[in-house]
Amino acid sequence: MRIAVIGTGYVGLVTGACLAHQGHVVTCVDTDAEKLARLRQGVCPLYEPGLDAMVSRGLKANRLHFVGDTAVAVAEAEVVFICVGTPTQAAGGEADLGQVRTAAVEIAAALRRFTVVAVKSTVPVGTGDEVEALIRRRRPDADVAVVSNPEFLREGTAVGDCQKPDRIIVGTGDARARDVMARLYAPLTSTGAPLVVTDRRSAELVKYTANALLAIKIAFINEIADLSEAVGADVEDVAHGVGLDPRIGPGALRPGPGYGGSCFPKDSAALLTTSQRAGAALRILAAAVEANTRRKQGLVDRIARAAGGLTNKTVTLLGLTFKADTDDLREAASLTLAPALLKAGAAVRAYDPKGMAEARRLLPGVEMCTDPYAACWGSDLAVVLTEWPQFAALDLARLRKTMRSPALVDLRNLIDPATAVRSGFSYAGIGRHLPAELEKARAETGRGIVPMATTGAPV
Ligand code: NAD
Repeated sequence: MRIAVIGTGYVGLVTGACLAHQGHVVTCVDTDAEKLARLRQGVCPLYEPGLDAMVSRGLKANRLHFVGDTAVAVAEAEVVFICVGTPTQAAGGEADLGQVRTAAVEIAAALRRFTVVAVKSTVPVGTGDEVEALIRRRRPDADVAVVSNPEFLREGTAVGDCQKPDRIIVGTGDARARDVMARLYAPLTSTGAPLVVTDRRSAELVKYTANALLAIKIAFINEIADLSEAVGADVEDVAHGVGLDPRIGPGALRPGPGYGGSCFPKDSAALLTTSQRAGAALRILAAAVEANTRRKQGLVDRIARAAGGLTNKTVTLLGLTFKADTDDLREAASLTLAPALLKAGAAVRAYDPKGMAEARRLLPGVEMCTDPYAACWGSDLAVVLTEWPQFAALDLARLRKTMRSPALVDLRNLIDPATAVRSGFSYAGIGRHLPAELEKARAETGRGIVPMATTGAPV
């Protein structure tokens, strides 16, 4: 099938490359000429494992094309995906649909045959109706069906998620559109991916509800982590035990610095706006959003406690992206933490395996270093902020030698506390229980696991 993808960002590029891999002929459109020029040469503008190779294969097979003109891509397409951004508006929590509306207008002008316009961008309930009205107003003659087809890929595992989705949601009341979408996804449904066909508004709400539930789960396990610390439990064991219940599941039960990224914060805010407008309060989600905001704001106090104050201290941030295996810094904890540390009088050094280019732009005043050991040189405290696997494999003895005072704050519970303490570090994880022998070591040497509780005097 011939496919057009409008918006070649994380979702559009992965979607386009995967559909080309499945045998479709895909034309990706973007307004960013530099991005398109790089893509035509097979250079990915973003880091996503496996994506480079897939884009190269698509180009070589002549099934993946990159253009700047929506009309060129839409004219021959059976399905046009809208994958443009839907950021939060500058004021308030509402989704900014400007890019979606522009894309809809451009698509309308180019329609020539029966075309399914599938909205993959995450959009508030009712946006499909608006897109359809917009297109019909401009092109009353057009034979078009607007469907909702929300995307569930996760950055870091996006290529795998796209090739083996746990579900495909299609929202439409149009029988022809349903058939086209079933044909499009046949390579995936034939290997077991469930296809759920529903009405457009329900499909739009599936996406927001899924992201809201995940945000709630993360915010909740973070609070349980603080409680674990206060009562002498280990949150890692608690999460493991809880996640074995099939009604709950193990996903999104990792305690951390608070959720970030391009989706959970903005989608939670947008869903709360929708609920307020509809007069149907989402109190649990509102509480999770507040808890997450407080958590991020409280990180600087946690770190100050572990460092015994921040004035004239050097703090190293290991990891700047919002999660591992991506170069995306949108709503990352580093964006609030680094400026807060600088403001509190600390010098901040940092290293991230993939996010340095963007971080240099977004975090002025932070000294970017070439590797984790260089980043920790002369430092008083190292903070693991992103769960990059290479930080779990750090040579702690070597790391210790580079630091002025060997202290670790592990906001991802990535490093084994016992190894850290045996390597001579004081260690503060999240919601970790201190085993008896480490408690003893701490009493004898003054080093060990430092409580991270949000209350109490600095340790
Ligand atoms: P992004 O910002 O990475 O990409 C959007 C792209 O659209 C940009 O490259 C931009 O230049 C382009 N664009 C904007 N207007 C355009 C136009 N009129 N014509 C052509 N191109 C245009 O955004 P993203 O992360 O890919 O997210 C896209 C949508 O998918 C959002 O609604 C997001 O919430 C949703 N989503 C994102 C993820 C994720 O993990 N990033 C996962 C699921 C859903």
